[in-house]
Amino acid sequence: MRVIRSLVRMQKLAAAFKREKKRIVLVPTMGALHEGHLALVRRARKLGDIVVVSIFVNPSQFAVGEDLERYPRNPATDKRLLKREGVDILFTPEADAIYPDDFDTYVVPGEIATRLEGAFRPTHFRGVATVVLKLFNLVQPDIAIFGCKDLQQTVVIRRMVADLNLPIRIVEIPTTRDRDGLALSSRNSYLSKQGRKRARAIPAALLAAQEKIASGERSATKIRSLIKRRLLGVVAEVDYVSVAERHTLTELKEISGEVAISLACRIDGVRLIDNIILKVN
Ligand code: AMP
Repeated sequence: MRVIRSLVRMQKLAAAFKREKKRIVLVPTMGALHEGHLALVRRARKLGDIVVVSIFVNPSQFAVGEDLERYPRNPATDKRLLKREGVDILFTPEADAIYPDDFDTYVVPGEIATRLEGAFRPTHFRGVATVVLKLFNLVQPDIAIFGCKDLQQTVVIRRMVADLNLPIRIVEIPTTRDRDGLALSSRNSYLSKQGRKRARAIPAALLAAQEKIASGERSATKIRSLIKRRLLGVVAEVDYVSVAERHTLTELKEISGEVAISLACRIDGVRLIDNIILKVN
């Protein structure tokens, strides 16, 4: 596995792979890797000739007061894990190379980025879209792999790829969960032992919603209330509960078709997101 820090070097390598007609697959991450990330890497290994994993804690997607400085970083472990998965290139650019002092151009996603996560993190998706487009330009992937754990992110990226005519296939991978159902996340490491236990309420609430829908409930309002009720008293704050069409994340009144149930809440001040995707007749 080659570890590349230089942007120019990455671009030159990507150009060489292109000349050799190699299929490049990119898995963008912020590191502190867990099994969820590795599920993406394993899919990448199956799909491509050259697997590139980027690790970059992207400052522009964190707002002032968010957890940029304390975001978990485990470079040595990450490197070992990726080597074991047969990754070809670990791309770890420096923040000041990606955002030099005179950097002044952003990708601004539209309406989709104003709702759900966007309502609570207004500049988040601008940062995500900008860094992802930069990574696409640097790595020149044929395929890029993202997790459904960050479902709105995948919707924003798909929109950008379509709107800006990028010749890249986006592949989504289902959420990897811990044994008790909690979605794996680098941020779970912020939770206290007690908080980690209380976090079980998140998958439990989503499961309760799924069961209610399976038993015939079709009112999105009732499902949102059910989830809020299940979380209340356990989590400090519920930022939102969304019952929406899976591909556009527009809120539903009546539950039918491909439906995404998403939520964000805070436990011990730690902000966690999760979702489930259902097909409902
Ligand atoms: P992050 O390092 O948190 O930016 O995540 C990098 C990629 O891994 C994103 O596409 C995430 O959606 C994905 N990811 C994070 N957690 C999980 C998980 N538990 N299961 C599947 N994919 C995940």
